[in-house]
Amino acid sequence: MVEPEHTAGGKPSPSESVVRAMSESAARLGLKSEIVDLLRTSWREMRAQLPVRMDDGSLRIFEGYRVQHNGARGPYKGGVRFHPQAHIDEVRALAMLMTYKCAVMDLPFGGAKGGVMCDPTAMSVTELNRLTRAYTQHIHMMLGINRDIPAPDMGTNAQTMAWMMDAYGQLHGHTPGIVTGKPVELGGSFGREQATGRGVVACMREYAMREGVAPSDVRVAVQGYGNVGAWTCRLAAALGFRIVAVGDVKGAIVNDQGLDIAALDAWTKGRGSVAGFDGGQPLPVDALLGADCDYLVPAALGEVVTAENAHTINARAIIEGANHPTTPEADEILARRAVIVVPDIVVNAGGVTVSYFEWTQNIQQFRWDLDQVNAELEERMVLAFNTLTARAAHDGTRLRQAAFDLGLERVAQAIILRGFV
Ligand code: GLU
Repeated sequence: MVEPEHTAGGKPSPSESVVRAMSESAARLGLKSEIVDLLRTSWREMRAQLPVRMDDGSLRIFEGYRVQHNGARGPYKGGVRFHPQAHIDEVRALAMLMTYKCAVMDLPFGGAKGGVMCDPTAMSVTELNRLTRAYTQHIHMMLGINRDIPAPDMGTNAQTMAWMMDAYGQLHGHTPGIVTGKPVELGGSFGREQATGRGVVACMREYAMREGVAPSDVRVAVQGYGNVGAWTCRLAAALGFRIVAVGDVKGAIVNDQGLDIAALDAWTKGRGSVAGFDGGQPLPVDALLGADCDYLVPAALGEVVTAENAHTINARAIIEGANHPTTPEADEILARRAVIVVPDIVVNAGGVTVSYFEWTQNIQQFRWDLDQVNAELEERMVLAFNTLTARAAHDGTRLRQAAFDLGLERVAQAIILRGFV
C-alpha cells in the first residue's frame, strides 16, 4: 500500500497522483493488473537517520531516503534532493516518474530518487559535506554502477556529487560512474549542468514550431531561477524567445519587452534571488503563475499548479521544466480551458539523458566534447517530442497521457520479457 502519510484534506499524496496516472495509462494499454500491482509501490525504500555535527558543535539528526521504484529496464537512476519538503512520499513519487521518464527517453535505466529533508541554503559548505557523506554511507550498499546511480536534483549540485563519489570510493574503490552530474574535473560530462534547461528549450522550440510562431513572438514566464530555470532563460533568450517574467521564492520580476537575462544573471550572482532586479517591475511572488504570457515554464517545486490556481493561468501552454508541477485536478481544469501541458517526463528529461551520456563515458573511460553531447541530446529530445506528439495525435489523448502510455508500455514489456509476471 502507498502510505498516505502526507495526504492533507483528502487530496491525493504526490505518489498517489502518479499511481493514478499510471493506472489510467495501464487501462488504456490493456495491461494485466499484476503489472499495475508491481508498479503501484517501490521495489525498495531506504529511510536513513543522518546525524551531523554542525559547525556550532551541536548534533542534528536529519532524515534521508533512497527509493528504487522499478529496475526492469536497467540500473536505478535518479537525483538526490536536499529540500525541507523532500519527504518520503514526494521522493517516492519522483522515483516513479524517473521510471517512466527513462523509459519514454529509451534510456537503459529504471527509476529512483533520493532526498534529505534539510534546508541547504541555511547550511555551511562543511555541514553539507558531512551530511552528504553521512547519507552516502547509509545508502552505499544500494548503489553500484550497475545497480543505482544518483545525480543532482533540487538543492544539490556537482559538488554534492563529488562528495558522494569520494565517500563511495572510500568504501568500494575509485568509481566515477557511481554518480552523474559530477564536476568535469572528476569525470563529469561536458554540458551536464545546462542539459535540463537545454532539453526544456528544445521542447519549447519544437512546440512553437508546431504552432507556427516565431520565438520572438512568444512571451515566456519562468517560475524558478535555479539550475533549470536559469539555463532555460539563458538558452531560450538566445533563441529569441521573450522572457517576460521570472520569479523565485523571494521575488518576481516582469518586463513585457523581455528581460535582459545577462543583466539578471549578474544581479542574482551572490544574491541568490531575482528579487529587487531593476530591469523590470516587481510582481508578487504568487502572481507569477498567472503572469500575462504565452508559455509558462514551472521550473521549481512540484504541485504548484493546482485546482486553486489553474483558472488563473494566462499561458496557452505549460512547458513543465519541474517534476510533477501540475496536480491531476489542475490537469483536468487546464484541459477544459484548452491550455496545453507539455509533460515533465519528456520536457525535463535532458538532465537524465546527459547523465546517461556521462555514465557511458565513465564506463568507457572516454570523454565526448561539448558539441557531441549537445548534438546527441538535441537528437534525442526532438525524437522524444515528435514521438510524443505523434502518439497523442494517433490515440486522441493529451500529451501527458501519451507520455505515460509510451513510458509504461516499455516498462511493461521489460517486466514481461524478464518473466516477472
Ligand atoms: N534530477 C534530474 C531529474 O529529475 C536528473 C536525474 C539524473 O540525472 O539521474 O530528472
